[in-house]
Amino acid sequence: MGPQRADLLKKELGIFTFKDLLEHFPHRHVDKTKVSSISQIGPETDYIQVAGKLLQFEIIGEKKAKRLVAQLKDNTGFLELTWFQGINWIQKTLQTGRTYLVFGKVSFFQGRAQIIHPEMELQTEEKTTGKNYLEPVYPATEKLKSKGLGGRQIGKLTMSLLKMTGANEIPEILPDTLLMRFGLMNRAEAYQKIHFPSTLNEYEQALKRLKFEELFLSQLRLAIIRSGRHRFSKGVVFEKVGHLFNTFYSQHLPFELTAAQKRVIKEIRADTAKGHQMNRLLQGDVGSGKTIVALLIMLLAADNGFQSCLMAPTEILAQQHFENIKNFLRHLPVKTELLTGSVKPAERKRIFNALRGGEIQILIGTHAVIEDTVEFKNLGLVIIDEQHRFGVAQRAKLWEKSHMPPHILVMTATPIPRTLAMSVYGDLDYSVINELPPGRQPVHTVHRYESVRSKVMDFIKKEIAKGRQAFIIFPLIEESAKLDYENLMKGYENVKAYFPEPAYWISMLHGRQSIQQKETNMQRFVNKDTQIMVSTTVIEVGVDVPNATVMVIESAERFGLSQLHQLRGRVGRGAEKSYCILLTANDISNDARERMRIMTETNDGFLIAEKDLELRGPGDIEGTRQSGPLNFKLASLVQDRNMLETARNLAAEILEKDPELNSAENLKLKIYLDNQKGKTTWSRIS
Ligand code: ADP
Ligand code: MG
Repeated sequence: MGPQRADLLKKELGIFTFKDLLEHFPHRHVDKTKVSSISQIGPETDYIQVAGKLLQFEIIGEKKAKRLVAQLKDNTGFLELTWFQGINWIQKTLQTGRTYLVFGKVSFFQGRAQIIHPEMELQTEEKTTGKNYLEPVYPATEKLKSKGLGGRQIGKLTMSLLKMTGANEIPEILPDTLLMRFGLMNRAEAYQKIHFPSTLNEYEQALKRLKFEELFLSQLRLAIIRSGRHRFSKGVVFEKVGHLFNTFYSQHLPFELTAAQKRVIKEIRADTAKGHQMNRLLQGDVGSGKTIVALLIMLLAADNGFQSCLMAPTEILAQQHFENIKNFLRHLPVKTELLTGSVKPAERKRIFNALRGGEIQILIGTHAVIEDTVEFKNLGLVIIDEQHRFGVAQRAKLWEKSHMPPHILVMTATPIPRTLAMSVYGDLDYSVINELPPGRQPVHTVHRYESVRSKVMDFIKKEIAKGRQAFIIFPLIEESAKLDYENLMKGYENVKAYFPEPAYWISMLHGRQSIQQKETNMQRFVNKDTQIMVSTTVIEVGVDVPNATVMVIESAERFGLSQLHQLRGRVGRGAEKSYCILLTANDISNDARERMRIMTETNDGFLIAEKDLELRGPGDIEGTRQSGPLNFKLASLVQDRNMLETARNLAAEILEKDPELNSAENLKLKIYLDNQKGKTTWSRIS
């Protein structure tokens, strides 16, 4: 093709190479394999292809109703063809008296069948036959269409490209045994048939093969990183379970651990004893008890003479972790310190010295503070709480702090669907606490409309009369901090009108307050000096107020599912029955109604995460926005869950037997990965 059209393909569709063109996949096919006779057309006919002689044109109507009409005749009858646009051009280019293959959607006008703007193809031979393949329909832009590079032309380009290519240009890369085991079409054929299949079944086989390849290669790349770390990384060894761990476990643990907590501790324990660096993601729903797991692992580190640090996303949360952990450890000789932005310089200096000297075993703090300034004597373990708040890349920074990289445990309460976790965090090892401590009552969740607001407020009054507390949460308006603030203020005034002083006291938290102000307001609520906490979503992460039993979410229709679930997790932390009230406008979208329905039906964070993925697609799930591994051309994390799972297991299986992919069978796979410059990360194995 000429340089101008080539340029257009680059700009509009990002097609630079033959490979790009081959991977510009059709989004559907139309069946023009059959040629029907005109008499077969009936009221239920949809798209049809017929062949016949084009009789004379006629222009009917005026102005807007002006149209060009022609009759098509075959042996069985007449069909009306109609054009509203391009009338002159159509009249010039189509030749009456000749035979055409005609394709289009049948509609009825005044009882007569017609096709509006049909696709017309001149038949040179007398005999007319349909195509021997299904015709691909490609996504194309208006601009491309106007320059004569619409879907049809792209189809023609692809067809001629495919005529030049075969198994030499598109070599097989998957091992033969694998092709046989899963009944997969070979690669060159799959590229042919995904564009020009003769049957729908052939298309599906081609699609299956290429989707599988896509998922398998992405999982293989991630597995190579994992396997490399398992084999080559250096890591400190926590060889023994010692006095601190044992004493705490047998004498000071205030409750029995759940089976899931025990399992996860075992997994981590095994990982940290191997002499390779651990890099593990720990997922557990809100309230599943991740903190105690973190604490036990930190004691394990201390038993082996190593320091640990626990990093939290906010000061409030760091503070709370610090107090909890100090309380848990009150009978044990473990030196624990808190380091946040508000620690005074003199104190800070003392902590730094003690860290360098190795006197501090556990450091708790906000991630920014710990990352930037701290030197340890022998850091052995880094635990990052509520990781979805950080960029995934930030993890890596910490490795540089010590000559031997510390073990890394990333904890998150944002349930991520398994499929998504496998792709986004596929280079990490992965543990799940899939069980809540016994005796937890599910939070009773209801959806209420604005019109019954006063009843909702009455309900809060009743709970407060019982000595309980309530959260009232307002949405963050991301586009504008100012609007956000005004919205919250309006809400606050409104709440105040229902709950006047001095019978009621209200705290307020929002993003414009200083850390100190937030801290004070939060503390007043925690100390029960106030009964109501009005807040934007800054409250979302981790904070624990067991006496709060009501969570009202204002404008709940503006929140995504995961966020609603996170917010709901702020209540139901004590012994009392808790409630979550989703307050929405009277008139909301179907999508929003669906979200409210899911929230009222389940408390299961993983189920909610799956639904979230289905409703929003992977690109919008928190923390994954710029995630490369999600850019699949064909596969879908929602629809192809099972295939992804298979691909992941298979990748692990292959690397287990042949970690370098050196066997004759796997060599083509290795060569392919090596040639994909920049995409494979053998080099990232340090
Ligand atoms: P999250 O996983 O959301 O961080 P936490 O670690 O804050 O959860 O735990 C929530 C609450 O449950 C805490 O008060 C904690 O002490 C308690 N808890 C944790 N594990 C257990 C258990 N096995 N049995 C009873 N209570 C537990
Ligand atoms: Mg937590």
